[in-house]
Amino acid sequence: MRTIIEPFRIKMTEALPITTRGRRAERLAAAHNNVFLLDAEDITIDLLTDSGTGAMSDRQWAALMLGDESYAGSASWRHFERTVREITGFEHVFPTHQDRAAERILAATRLKPGDIVPNNSHFDTTRANIEYVGAKAVDLPSPASKDIYSDARFKGDMDVDALERLIATEGASKIPFCMITVTNNAAGGQPVSMENIRNVRALLGAHGVPLVVDACRYAENAYFIKQWEAGFADRDLIDIARDMFSLCDGATMSAKKDGLANIGGFLACNNDEWAEDFRNLLILTEGFPTYGGLAGRDLEAVAVGLKEALEFDYQRYRHATVEYLASKLIARGVPIVRPAGGHGVFIDPGVFCPHLGAGDYPGIGLVNALYLEGGVRAVELGSVMFGRAAAGGEAEAPALRELVRLALPRRVYTQSHFDYVVETLDLVWRRREAIPAHRIVRQAPFLRHFTAHFEPFETR
Ligand SMILES: *Cc1c(COP(=O)(O)O)cnc(C)c1O
Repeated sequence: MRTIIEPFRIKMTEALPITTRGRRAERLAAAHNNVFLLDAEDITIDLLTDSGTGAMSDRQWAALMLGDESYAGSASWRHFERTVREITGFEHVFPTHQDRAAERILAATRLKPGDIVPNNSHFDTTRANIEYVGAKAVDLPSPASKDIYSDARFKGDMDVDALERLIATEGASKIPFCMITVTNNAAGGQPVSMENIRNVRALLGAHGVPLVVDACRYAENAYFIKQWEAGFADRDLIDIARDMFSLCDGATMSAKKDGLANIGGFLACNNDEWAEDFRNLLILTEGFPTYGGLAGRDLEAVAVGLKEALEFDYQRYRHATVEYLASKLIARGVPIVRPAGGHGVFIDPGVFCPHLGAGDYPGIGLVNALYLEGGVRAVELGSVMFGRAAAGGEAEAPALRELVRLALPRRVYTQSHFDYVVETLDLVWRRREAIPAHRIVRQAPFLRHFTAHFEPFETR
């Protein structure tokens, strides 16, 4: 088989900062050893997130110039609405500045204190918006997701038996809607099968509970279904996407992911009553329903991007890139979540640094070592991000598991950039005993990972 090449060539370049180790050590110390506090101009390869960090195509840049900035009923809005309807089949479409605005409108209009929202795994903003209105966000990941090293497929599925038990014990009346997140970001970007969505739908249908899909990576999920699930090999990605959406009653979407745009999102549904409530709150907090907090040119870029994300050659290249990075790390013995997810590679820093305990924040040690070694920025998804700080006499609680994510921005880096990332990781891997423990010297009461100050220290 020949190399799966990037299905684009480069028309405009953006210089990458190449820095020295001395400079990086100085910048990291000035950032209190927290890579969130670094300036982007001090980073060579930025794998912090795949959200809003992608490169737009020439067609998207051309579409920007066609942006119609009319306040109401602009041509760009019609283009956006037509495209979302074509892909999702939903009648009512509401543009939002990003997904969390869609989540906020959904939660504020449909939930009351004491309600319950199940999900295969809630993304942090989804959970926060549900809990903000006094409802409870319950994660029901499939049992297969617990073994991060197994090569089982569709480890992002929802546990349908657990959902059935939840409905039986709590009652369907306490569940105004259920959600399903594709791909399952919190579980390492693992995909959800069509069969699982169908089974969830059938169970919910019997109890009259609507299903809302968190569709941020719907196109990457559609590609996994095409590759792995029986009966889909010959289907176009857009048809698979339509099948997924047809099993749902509504969707929230971040165009910063599979919209291939730098900003944007939407909320969509079929129910007229829901739509009326969504529209009223949208006008109050986002903007008139035909722009929803976005410029006309943003609506154009998203409309074009949503279709490009469903192109087979693009998805094949994207998945091949993640696979390329993952296979090189597996060959070197680096402990990563398997199979490779849709948008990144997830490393297990606990196994990477056996000399460190969870309280030593091994994820922070690994992230900082990667930056010092090669100017590569990754992100800790472990006890700093998801653990609970000590408070009110209670000791600090670690996260369920320690992970470090290398998220891949869309269409931004080439194969040699990823070779460089592998070489950098390899150097860190060979000298892993030198990765120091870290302690927190300053932190905020909420979402501490963004602003905390860390200090490395000697454990021996
Ligand atoms: C990024 C993301 C969100 C939130 O999207 P924003 O556009 O950043 O508000 C919600 N759910 C999932 C699964 C995501 O990955």
